[in-house]
Amino acid sequence: MTRPTAAIIDIQALRENFALAQRLAPNANSMPMVKANAYGHGIVRVAQALEDMAPAYGVACIEEALELREANIKQPLLLLEGPHSADEVEIADQQSLWLMLENHTQLKAVLNAKLQNPVNVWIKLDTGMHRLGFQPNEAQGVFQQLSDSPNVAASMVLATHFSCADNLDNNFTHQQLASFDAALKNLNPSNLKTSLANSAAILDWPEVKDDWQRPGYMLYGNTPFAQSQKNADPLKPVMHFQSAVISTRTIAAGESVGYTANWTANRPSIIATVAVGYGDGYPRHAENGTPVLIGGIKCPLVGRVSMDMISVDITDLPKPIGIGEPVTLWGLGLGVNEVARHCRTIGYELLTRMPARVPRIYT
Ligand SMILES: *Cc1c(COP(=O)(O)O)cnc(C)c1O
Repeated sequence: MTRPTAAIIDIQALRENFALAQRLAPNANSMPMVKANAYGHGIVRVAQALEDMAPAYGVACIEEALELREANIKQPLLLLEGPHSADEVEIADQQSLWLMLENHTQLKAVLNAKLQNPVNVWIKLDTGMHRLGFQPNEAQGVFQQLSDSPNVAASMVLATHFSCADNLDNNFTHQQLASFDAALKNLNPSNLKTSLANSAAILDWPEVKDDWQRPGYMLYGNTPFAQSQKNADPLKPVMHFQSAVISTRTIAAGESVGYTANWTANRPSIIATVAVGYGDGYPRHAENGTPVLIGGIKCPLVGRVSMDMISVDITDLPKPIGIGEPVTLWGLGLGVNEVARHCRTIGYELLTRMPARVPRIYT
């Protein structure tokens, strides 16, 4: 007796996707991005699954880092947005966290902190995304102050983040790269490492060379690109979002389905009700016709997504479907990117919004 709705998490696929990221840049370290509950897959279990392969992990905030420490994860953890307040620098010291520094408030917090040991610092440069980071012309001064501080470990990393790397025709990535290289040349690069690549850059920008790449979305088995790409195509989806049919009925032409009656049958239709809804992270904005996989065949969503249920038109299935029939919302055979396109969003959001109500089952 359990509700049939669950996210099946394929650990082997996760490990293979990470191995691909490593293989594409054998001389770089690959740091799995496990922020946002490992893109919805479960931060602790994902970190444990990669423990023997990953030299460090990337998280968005200290709460995520402490969750990993409580689970006994020993690797360095990089706070991608840096410390949100001065006291986090001391926690970073106690918990062996690495700090991305991206503004002068954070820089001062590190320089003024009372620490047991020097902290590991990454300097974030704003090369054009204009969200976080020091301006490239500040790099020299920031680097010098950090180098002179007893609070900072000698080996630092200069980092930036691409805004358009998933668009293979966009020249902006080249501009960001040029801006980064110019700033790097101005510093004394001897004890300075670099970090630039996200999934898109790892998969399709071989000219981006760095010491630390930061794969995220690709680890979870989905492509960041809108089109086919030779490195991305073999990625294996890690999350299989599943449920089951809990009711079926036949309706006449002219009858409607669901809240607001926004879909009306134009022929006699068989409707399957599936035990998944927006309370499970299935997007309410999914439009009529969004594919749902039943018996290996894509069937159209009809009517509004409810909190706990959706309705699917199974009239065209070759075989009759009964209560208990398994349903895949996304995963093998139906990529989360394809579902996202019907909801005017991206797969990243659908994965990340998967709520706690959906049990994660690890295989
Ligand atoms: C999330 C994140 C990444 C990973 O991006 P993907 O597109 O998921 O690979 C890399 N770097 C930073 C700074 C990030 O915040």
